[in-house]
Amino acid sequence: MKIVVLVKQVPDSTEITVDKKTGTLVRDGVPSIINPDDLAGLEAALELKDANPDVKVTVVSMGPPQAKGMLQETIARGADDAYLITDRRLGGADTCATSRTLAAALKKIGFDLIIAGRQAIDGDTAQVGPQTAERLGLPQITYVDQIIELTPEKITVKKALEEEEQILTSKMPCVLTTLSGMNKPRYMNCVDIVDSFDKPVNIMTFDDLDLDLSVVGLAGSPTKVHATFTKEVSAETKTYELSAQETAELIAKTLKEKQLITK
Ligand SMILES: Cc1cc2nc3c(=O)[nH]c(=O)nc-3n(C[C@H](O)[C@H](O)[C@H](O)COP(=O)(O)OP(=O)(O)OC[C@H]3O[C@@H](n4cnc5c(N)ncnc54)[C@H](O)[C@@H]3O)c2cc1C
Repeated sequence: MKIVVLVKQVPDSTEITVDKKTGTLVRDGVPSIINPDDLAGLEAALELKDANPDVKVTVVSMGPPQAKGMLQETIARGADDAYLITDRRLGGADTCATSRTLAAALKKIGFDLIIAGRQAIDGDTAQVGPQTAERLGLPQITYVDQIIELTPEKITVKKALEEEEQILTSKMPCVLTTLSGMNKPRYMNCVDIVDSFDKPVNIMTFDDLDLDLSVVGLAGSPTKVHATFTKEVSAETKTYELSAQETAELIAKTLKEKQLITK
């Protein structure tokens, strides 16, 4: 069984600043990380591989050439292979063009199950996973907190909503979007890091995709950003008078609403 995990390289948002003149994110010199929801999706796929040697894990990313280092890291974590879709003609893509490009690449690479993160911490739209499922005509389950059972025919998962959890089953193949709180990603060890360089990242360009130039990159992106600005931070403070139990419940509810914890 081939599980494909979609990962995006994002700036480490705790260290990012905004250019006051242009209002755009300052990326130069900012360390990049694997998007946290995607890292959880990769860990979930690797746990399925640990439990079943027939499972193969492939990682796919679209981005600039420097995303190759991130993909090498996913191989060091245990992925079997990785693909970077990179080409200046694909740059400037919004979610519409990104999902179209990813879907075209996925058709070439092949898959039984696709796992995307729920949301990228920089673009923040949460659209790419669901759009990719639509483009491939596949069922999708979003906000996945746990994969309960996987067979070649069907998958059963726990979906975490703000007030409730749902147990859902989908026929395969399908697309899942995963939450960063669902597991604790494994560490890489030195041996695996060194060994990962024996498995070079596969490179795909526009020429490998059966797509027209007019539907990818900037030309294929209907989203136009009219303005960007930094939100004013208000000094509003809320005061509560609560018991210890009520305080704990309020903190847990707030963290859950913000998807910082899922249990
Ligand atoms: C040459 C080149 C340069 C690029 N430069 C940038 C850049 O500077 N900034 C930028 O934000 N984007 C860049 N992209 C990628 C693309 O424009 C964005 O990925 C896309 O708009 C995603 O939107 P989002 O962040 O809202 O994702 P969301 O919809 O919030 O992402 C949800 C999930 O979809 C998957 N996903 C999203 N994007 C990708 C991707 N690119 N590859 C694989 N999986 C993905 C991940 O699993 C993610 O967790 C570049 C692409 C190319 C080819």
